Amino acid sequence: MKRSIFFKLLFGFSLIVIVLAGLILLFAYQPMRNYFIGISFTQLERLAVSLEPSILPYIDNAHFRELDAFVKSTGQKIDTRITVMNPDGVVIADSENDINTMENHRFRIEMQKALAGETGTAIRYSPTEHRQMLYVAVPLRKQNKVLCVVRTSIPFHNIDELLRTMKRRVGWATCATVSIGILFAAFFFLGFSMPLRELVRASRRVTEGDLGVRVSLKRQDEFGKLADSFNEMTNRLHLFFNALSAKNEEFNSIISSIREGLLVFDGKGRILMANKSFNEIAGMDQVIGKHFYEVIRSPEFSDLAEKILDQKNAVTGEIIIRNRIYLCSAVYLHTDEKIVCLFHDITELRRLERVKKDFVANVSHELKTPLTAIKGFVETVMDSADKETQRHLEIVGRNTDRLIRIVDDLLTLSEMEEKGFVLDLAEVDIKEVLKNALSFFEQKARDKGLALVLNIMTEVPAIQADRYRLEQLFINLLDNAVKYTEHGSIHITVKTQEKVLVIEIEDTGIGISEEHLPRIFERFYVADKSRSRKSGGTGLGLAIAKHIVHLHNGTITVTSTSGQGTKFTVTLPISRFPSV
Ligand code: ADP
Repeated sequence: MKRSIFFKLLFGFSLIVIVLAGLILLFAYQPMRNYFIGISFTQLERLAVSLEPSILPYIDNAHFRELDAFVKSTGQKIDTRITVMNPDGVVIADSENDINTMENHRFRIEMQKALAGETGTAIRYSPTEHRQMLYVAVPLRKQNKVLCVVRTSIPFHNIDELLRTMKRRVGWATCATVSIGILFAAFFFLGFSMPLRELVRASRRVTEGDLGVRVSLKRQDEFGKLADSFNEMTNRLHLFFNALSAKNEEFNSIISSIREGLLVFDGKGRILMANKSFNEIAGMDQVIGKHFYEVIRSPEFSDLAEKILDQKNAVTGEIIIRNRIYLCSAVYLHTDEKIVCLFHDITELRRLERVKKDFVANVSHELKTPLTAIKGFVETVMDSADKETQRHLEIVGRNTDRLIRIVDDLLTLSEMEEKGFVLDLAEVDIKEVLKNALSFFEQKARDKGLALVLNIMTEVPAIQADRYRLEQLFINLLDNAVKYTEHGSIHITVKTQEKVLVIEIEDTGIGISEEHLPRIFERFYVADKSRSRKSGGTGLGLAIAKHIVHLHNGTITVTSTSGQGTKFTVTLPISRFPSV
């Protein structure tokens, strides 16, 4: 309360008023005193001058005794001391003292001036009266000659008394005025601080969360406008807050309803947010505030988190939590340095894939023996058959070959996809592998009039690889190149780039149109169906090629322009890579 604006204003105002009033009193006293002294001098002078006609006849007739009696009776009547002195300073009449006992007054200050022909004034101690007196001495002249000096005087304490009374009265009046002023100011400041207090109270309630509070000030001034603005502001805040709460609720219900696990953690790995599904994945009720490694005990996730914190980008990976497989997509939010992870359960998907692969492997295996038997049977019957039957048997034989190739390719894929599959690693000279693979196609290329060109750009180091699988990879790629090129050439280029070996197989064939490019590595995906079938394609060659490259920790990419040619680029790491 003491620190309120009302008390501050009142205290400040009172202090200023009191100090000003005090200063006025202080500085007004001296002028007032001088003014009273001046008035007293004037009155004494007038009195002395007015006595002149009465005194002169006594002087002229030398009736000094009568003059003394006149001065005594007049002085008593007007309560003023009157003294008459001759030009030598000898007192010839005095209203209060016996002139015979009085000393010569010639050297009194006022007397000196009067003898010089002017009105003399003085405030000094009177040796005769033994007190402070106010004197006025006026010379009485006759034909420019000073006949005598009339001196009127009053005790100084008369003026002092008057001034003291004056001071007392002015003091009281000032006190009364100041008090009334302060009282009025208090009322005024109260009217000023009340609406402020009301606004402060309302704002405090808003900060406490009460957005329904309103200020009602029935005033037209700035306070009234401030109250209106305040009410408008809280109104809008209320609406905004409601909308925000609704949005928040909506957001929360969406988050908790999604089946994917959602996890948000900060740069230090502390969990900031998680939905119900994530809690179920982690098998914990309360995860907020914990570190992610206390909640997800998965080395794959720790690697993924490390990677995203390092790269500050989007990362995706498969992780296993409590015996289930999840596809985890993590995104780094640069704005507030948070990581958002989404866990999608793919356990069932992976199981189905496994079932599918096993099924394909089993079927291929089961088909292989009967197909080989059919092929043998066709070849046996062929010799003893008539021409028409031979034609039919040829068709059967061709299709059986195709089926055997498909089964072989499927078995190759299944074999490589087996969990325990390991590459037969050894030091491999890629030049030899390529030359070997090329030798299979020399005749076919010659038949089609195609040039097969091998460019070895630099010294090629030996790499750790599975020779048989690499041969299989390049045979598949070269087979396609020869198959889908009618004229022109096939260039095989080998070069080194940083830590990888780059092998490019570029043909001038039919090319692959843009819409097929992203899918050609899929199993059984065939861009040009009729041509592929005619040339005995299975649609599995590139899938096998891709698999072999990945097993070697390499990459395979394709660029092509329809009608102009295709380029496959394979990269294989030169340095040691982990066996898969
Ligand atoms: P296929 O046995 O049918 O050749 P692949 O898996 O080897 O199967 O190839 C998939 C498809 O990609 C092919 O059917 C073909 O349409 C296309 N393709 C692959 N290599 C080439 C190439 N060098 N030129 C043109 N098309 C190609």
